[in-house]
Amino acid sequence: MKRYRGTIITIILFGLVLLFIFLFIYQYFGYNKYIYYGKDAPIITELHPIVSAKSKELVEKANQKNISMVITESFRSTERQDKLYAQGRKTEGNIVTHAQGGESYHNYGLAIDFALEDEEGNYIWDTAYDGNGNHIADWDEIVIIAKELGFEWGGDWRSFKDYPHLQMTFGLSIKQLQRGLRPKTEIAE
Ligand SMILES: [Zn+2]
Repeated sequence: MKRYRGTIITIILFGLVLLFIFLFIYQYFGYNKYIYYGKDAPIITELHPIVSAKSKELVEKANQKNISMVITESFRSTERQDKLYAQGRKTEGNIVTHAQGGESYHNYGLAIDFALEDEEGNYIWDTAYDGNGNHIADWDEIVIIAKELGFEWGGDWRSFKDYPHLQMTFGLSIKQLQRGLRPKTEIAE
C-alpha cells in the first residue's frame, strides 16, 4: 500500500485541480445562470419573474418609507421600442431613448422605469422631491433600495443618464441576449 501512496495523492490533487478549473469556468462563463437557446430563444412578452418579484418588493419597501412610487414601464416590445426610438428623430417629440428595437433590456423583460406620485396622485419625475419629509430625496431613497435588491440604475451611466431606469442584466450583455442567451428563470441566491 505504501508504494501507491504517492500515486494516490497525485491522482487526488490532479482531480482537485480539474474540479477547480471546471468550477471556475462554470462560474466565469455563467453557465449556472444562463441558458443558450440560439435562434430558438423563446419570445419574451413579459417581465422576467425575478425582476417582477424584485420590482414588487421595491414598491413595497418604498411604501414602508412613505414613498409612493409607480412603475411606468416594464416589458416593452421590439415594435414599441422602434416607435420610441423614432420619437425625436423621425417623429415629433423629444429623444427619449438611445436604443432601437432589441437593444434595450426592456425588450427582454429585464428593466423597469419608475416615477414618483405626489399627494394629488400626479406622476412626477422630480429627483429632488422629498414627499416623506425626511430631508433625503425620495428618488435617492428608491435608488438605494433598488440597488440593495440587485438592480442597476440608469442614473449611474456615464453617457445618456436614464434616471427613471432600473435593470437586472444577470451579467448578460445586449449582444448575448440578441444571440439567444437567456437568464434562467429561477436563480438560487
Ligand atoms: Zn428604462
